Amino acid sequence: MPELPEVEVTRRGLAPHLRGRVISAVEVREPRLRWPVPNAVRGLAGRTVRTVRRRGKYLLVDCGDGHLILHLGMSGSLRMLPPGTPAEKHDHFDLVLGDRVLRLRDPRRFGAVLWTSEAVEAHPLIANLGLEPLSRALHPARLHALTRGHGIAIKLFLMDGRRIVGVGNIYASESLFRARIDPRTPAKRLSLERCTRLSKAIKDALNAAIRAGGSTLRDFVGAEGDAGYMQNRFWVYDRAGKPCRRCRTPIKRIVQAQRSTFYCPGCQK
Ligand SMILES: [Zn+2]
Repeated sequence: MPELPEVEVTRRGLAPHLRGRVISAVEVREPRLRWPVPNAVRGLAGRTVRTVRRRGKYLLVDCGDGHLILHLGMSGSLRMLPPGTPAEKHDHFDLVLGDRVLRLRDPRRFGAVLWTSEAVEAHPLIANLGLEPLSRALHPARLHALTRGHGIAIKLFLMDGRRIVGVGNIYASESLFRARIDPRTPAKRLSLERCTRLSKAIKDALNAAIRAGGSTLRDFVGAEGDAGYMQNRFWVYDRAGKPCRRCRTPIKRIVQAQRSTFYCPGCQK
C-alpha cells in the first residue's frame, strides 16, 4: 500500500509536469473506484492546473475553481506518459495535458478520483484528517498535549489518522526506534522531552523515505514505477531476529492490534 512518503514522492514527481498546464481532455475508462468518479471530472477540459498539493495521502490538484482529489488506495500508481500510449487493463483514468498524459493505474480499485468546487479543506475526506506530520503543525508541545489522557500504546496512537495523518505501520515502528521509545508505552506517559524526540523522529523517518524515493523521480515519466525502493533502509521494520543496526541486539516482532510492530529491546526502553 502506498504510504505517505510514496505519495509525497509522487507529488514531487508529477507537479512539474502539471503546474501551469491546460487540461486538454479527460478519459474515465472505469468509474467504479472506491467511490464513483463524479461526472464533473469528465468536464475538466480547458482548466489550467495551478499546483499539486498533498494532505495526508490525498493529492489535491488545484484547478483554480476547484480541486481534483486523487488517492492511490491499496494498489494505485500515477505516471506521466506520452499521449497515445495504449491503456492496459487496470488503467482507469487519464488526465491529458497536451503532449503528456497523467494516468492512474489501480488493479484493486480502492483508489479515488473526485472533484470538489468547494473549499477543499472542508471536503468530508479532508476535514477530519489529523495533523500533517511534515508541517509545523506537528511540534513537541502539540504532540505532548495530544497524547494527554490517552492510555493506548504510543505505536497505535501514532497510527490513528484522526490525530496525526499518514504515519502507517512502517513509519510508526521506524519513528519509535529513532526516538528510542518502547512501542508499548502508554501515550499519556510520554514526557515533553520524549515527545520532542518523537516529533523529530517522525519527520526524520518520513523525510528519509522521501529522499530515498527521490532517486526514482524519473520513473514518473514513461517508465514503470518501482515500489520496492525503500526496503533496505529500515532500522527495524521487517527485520525480526536480525541484529539492531545500532547495538546488535536482535530486533523483536510483537503484534499490536493485529499489526506487526518491530523494535529493538536494547535501544527502546
Ligand atoms: Zn538497538
